[in-house]
Amino acid sequence: MLIIGSHVGFKKDSQLLGSLKEALSYGANTFMFYTGAPQNTNRYPIMDGLTLEAMNIMKEEGFDYSKVVVHAPYIINLANDKDPDKFMFSVRFLQEELERCSLLGIHKLVLHPGSHVGLGVDTAISNIAKGLNMILGTYDVCILLETMAGKGTEVGKSLEEIKRIIDLVDDKEHIGVCLDTCHLNDSGYDMRKFDSFLEKFDEMIGIHKIGCVHINDSKNVLGAHKDRHENIGFGTIGFDTLINIIYNEKLKDVPKILETPYVDREYAPYKYEIEMIRNKKFDNELIQKIRNQE
Ligand code: FE
Ligand code: FE
Ligand code: ZN
Repeated sequence: MLIIGSHVGFKKDSQLLGSLKEALSYGANTFMFYTGAPQNTNRYPIMDGLTLEAMNIMKEEGFDYSKVVVHAPYIINLANDKDPDKFMFSVRFLQEELERCSLLGIHKLVLHPGSHVGLGVDTAISNIAKGLNMILGTYDVCILLETMAGKGTEVGKSLEEIKRIIDLVDDKEHIGVCLDTCHLNDSGYDMRKFDSFLEKFDEMIGIHKIGCVHINDSKNVLGAHKDRHENIGFGTIGFDTLINIIYNEKLKDVPKILETPYVDREYAPYKYEIEMIRNKKFDNELIQKIRNQE
């Protein structure tokens, strides 16, 4: 069965229950959320009552809760230790995220490896591993390193870099990878050749390490190092290539998460995109339909 959803909100008053209801309204059977705003580290206490209520509904709806994913905020940067206080702030915040995940019963936390901000890739990789080694295994939560577009000084723009980080992590059980199709395209991996990409991934890192796939089209060409997501089928990767990835047998148990942009910054596209993906047929008019909320 296809496990598909999108990123959804997580609000102070409704928390996991609100996130679940939003996912259900899109016809999703999984979802991903930030435990607060993605750009900042303001967080509020988890309310167990809401978590329990959400879990009960998931049981009724046949939701596989083990596939639900949390995304850590972007501002965490384990790669940069120029300022030791800032580095430790990132480490501590990430540890608190692990704790929040654990309180919410979540086992997968997606993390951007970080940006080296001039320190160079080698130093960055050892910093990232150092930070991860301080916290991994304190909770039964797996950190999934996301493959990045290589915008600016982002680390994790190649399988080699991801592998080097994983090699330095002590607790191999709690480290994995989140593929992002837009980022892979922008970093120079041709998604039309996904089968050979997966083979290479399996040889280098092991396919079992893939814990999540972000499904996004891209506004930019192969190797652009840009990172601007596009709606499914409306970008340079294209519908057929994305369908081929989404329905890949080897990844059938891995959650697929849409992070495509809102249409006109107002209308969530996910219900429409999920339906189109289930139909496996591209709809040229989709953006118009989303706009008109047909
Ligand atoms: Fe991400
Ligand atoms: Fe992503
Ligand atoms: Zn992105």
